[in-house]
Amino acid sequence: MSKQTLANLKAEDLAGKKVLVRVDFNVPQSENGSITDDTRIRAALPTIKHLVNSGAKTILVTHLGRPKGDTLEERVKDKLRVNPIADRLAELLGQSVVKCDDCIGAEVSNQIATLENGGVALLENVRFYPGEEANDPEFAKALASLAEVYVNDAFGAAHRAHASTAGVAQFLQPAVAGFLLDLELQYLSGAIDNPQRPLAAIVGGSKVSSKIGVIEALLAKVNKLLIGGGMIFTFYKARGLSVGKSLVEEDKLELAKSLEAMAQERGVELLLPTDVVVANQFAADAQSQIVPIDQIPDGWMGLDIGPDSVKSFQSALADCKTVIWNGPMGVFEFDQFAKGTEAIAHSLAELTGKGAITIIGGGDSVAAVEKVGVADRMSHISTGGGASLELLEGKVLPGIAALNDA
Ligand code: ADP
Ligand code: MG
Repeated sequence: MSKQTLANLKAEDLAGKKVLVRVDFNVPQSENGSITDDTRIRAALPTIKHLVNSGAKTILVTHLGRPKGDTLEERVKDKLRVNPIADRLAELLGQSVVKCDDCIGAEVSNQIATLENGGVALLENVRFYPGEEANDPEFAKALASLAEVYVNDAFGAAHRAHASTAGVAQFLQPAVAGFLLDLELQYLSGAIDNPQRPLAAIVGGSKVSSKIGVIEALLAKVNKLLIGGGMIFTFYKARGLSVGKSLVEEDKLELAKSLEAMAQERGVELLLPTDVVVANQFAADAQSQIVPIDQIPDGWMGLDIGPDSVKSFQSALADCKTVIWNGPMGVFEFDQFAKGTEAIAHSLAELTGKGAITIIGGGDSVAAVEKVGVADRMSHISTGGGASLELLEGKVLPGIAALNDA
């Protein structure tokens, strides 16, 4: 799935050209609209700066939040306008950004026509148009007509077949990957297709049902699979253990058994925790105790992996050259059940220091690693939760498929 990238376009392909860039500036905001985390804006800066330095006229387009309703009128909400993003981007770039109040049409074209070479414009929230999520060809064509080159740098939205992420490439050529999208592909696809071994995956999070696809796909690739989080109790229950009030998906017991069997067939070392931290209720200030997994008391629920499990996970990881982590080991939002996740985050940071490639994918996993303060010690932190999961599952992402082949 090798695609053309911005690096394949020569300076003369870009100088003076109008370049439409799909970015993922879907940033978290506080009640008053101020941006609480600008990671996604910063992540797109290499692409934007490259275009600015090449003398292109950069036209950025993003979605923000989830506008509701069937018509443009219903969907437009002042709170979902991208003005705060334009302001932050201008600060980060150190140059002015033309904020357009629409995404398509004559007025937008006129505003873009005023851009100098190296200038940057940001279109209004593209999801105000129902045609965006419907991947309406007419809307895609209208977007395409604004520019001469298409760059997709919105990894976080690449698993969506929308007008600005996929449809537009049918009407606008060349269509290439931006630097962020390319980097994500290099790390995530590289780790599963051509990894330095041993390759380990750590999968956690709440439900096994949301991770079936990724576990199945990873079982065909990894040397070791470490499972933590809420999904472990479905595995234990399938083995006949009692799990108290822990999270269990009763309809996934057979599946859990078959995943264990699949690991054995494939020669994958599958590690499940040997002890857990149980709580008397789902609360930050719950009473807690550490128990072996075959001694979970009735009425208690497992909310983290225990210290022995952490040790065995650490020794399994010690010789790994590549580690992919998706899904926290416990309810890390509560401090007393964050220890397993914290310990694994620190271990991965150390492994990176020893030359291993460490990759974190998944919205909550990334948040956990950031909370622990070791995000900058990982090889790669994916900017796409859903997209990274789908890529690890081996799915073809529409936003990537739409781009020109290398
Ligand atoms: P990611 O976003 O990284 O893919 P998920 O969304 O799959 O991760 O799962 C994250 C959630 O899983 C967190 O909110 C965490 O509280 C929850 N979780 C982890 N362990 C448990 C557990 N033992 N019981 C219930 N929920 C858990
Ligand atoms: Mg999540």
